[in-house]
Amino acid sequence: MTEWKMCAYCGKWYSLALLKPLHEQGKDYVNWYCERCKPAVKSNLLKLPYSSLFKGEIKGQDK
Ligand SMILES: [Zn+2]
Repeated sequence: MTEWKMCAYCGKWYSLALLKPLHEQGKDYVNWYCERCKPAVKSNLLKLPYSSLFKGEIKGQDK
């Protein structure tokens, strides 16, 4: 069975295999982003002063 998640940026639904997780340190909540939104999300994220609090494939880091 395929799990579906909504891209937190464009609001479209994708199968989990097509999405990249972004996790805020110290929180359980994970945002999922599709490949198409990934560059925009990443550039927005890097402008944030607290971007180091985020972990995930969006930033090109493991865990
Ligand atoms: Zn998207």
